[in-house]
Amino acid sequence: MEAVAEPGNLAGVRHIVLILSGKGGVGKSTISTELALALRHVGKKVGILDVDLCGPSIPRMLRAQGRAVHQCDSGWVPVFVDQEQKVSLMSVGFLLEKPDEAVVWRGPKKNALIKQFVSDVAWGQLDYLVVDTPPGTSDEHMAAVEALRPYSPLGAIVVTTPQAVSVGDVRRELTFCRKTGLRVIGVVENMSGFVCPHCTECTNVFSRGGGEELARHAGVPFLGSVPLDPKLTRSLEEGGDFIQEFPHSPAFQALS
Ligand code: ADP
Repeated sequence: MEAVAEPGNLAGVRHIVLILSGKGGVGKSTISTELALALRHVGKKVGILDVDLCGPSIPRMLRAQGRAVHQCDSGWVPVFVDQEQKVSLMSVGFLLEKPDEAVVWRGPKKNALIKQFVSDVAWGQLDYLVVDTPPGTSDEHMAAVEALRPYSPLGAIVVTTPQAVSVGDVRRELTFCRKTGLRVIGVVENMSGFVCPHCTECTNVFSRGGGEELARHAGVPFLGSVPLDPKLTRSLEEGGDFIQEFPHSPAFQALS
């Protein structure tokens, strides 16, 4: 069923940020999650909309798996993931019967759910809505951009790793933004070097600087490099609050 747009549901959202990546595994959900937590850390109210329908990993990263969304008069009530109720999350993961159930849907059904997520979630007042998207540039991205466009200011952060393949994919992502008129807030280079857990020295495992070079070439801002940090991996696996626990880590410095 086609969702009916409910303009009131995003009327209280001040900024919408889409997180894009050319391919999976580059840390798009990580950046979405940690960006939301970093914004909360500076006092902002943040919503996370997980439209990565086939790989919804954010409920696990925020230890919200198994939580239920409820209906109220104005739509679905998102799940609050922190005690202060400053970070709320909506994900297809909350609508599945089992957390590891696969979403095997054709495009139109996925697009309808994305439109419904945009129109039917009662976010309330938010400083930022962070939207985690699937990798690549699929119909789901078009559906998300079309549904969110009336609610600008809307912009995109493109996540890449330093390796050339990923950087090549990211060029396509930037072309998608240009063709759909989506403002690029900037490029983030993730997994940029490895932070040694013993001496905290950062070693460049892959080549470095690809993201920055690409951003310069494309004429879009470069937002920074986030190193590979085993503490961050562990925190994401265990549902911890990396930003709170490791404020002096190089990855936190980069994220903030
Ligand atoms: P994507 O959303 O692009 O598929 P994820 O955010 O799920 O990628 O990240 C893939 C894996 O890499 C996850 O297990 C995550 O914990 C880990 N990861 C991502 N970025 C970092 C980082 N900067 N430091 C440590 N681990 C990271």
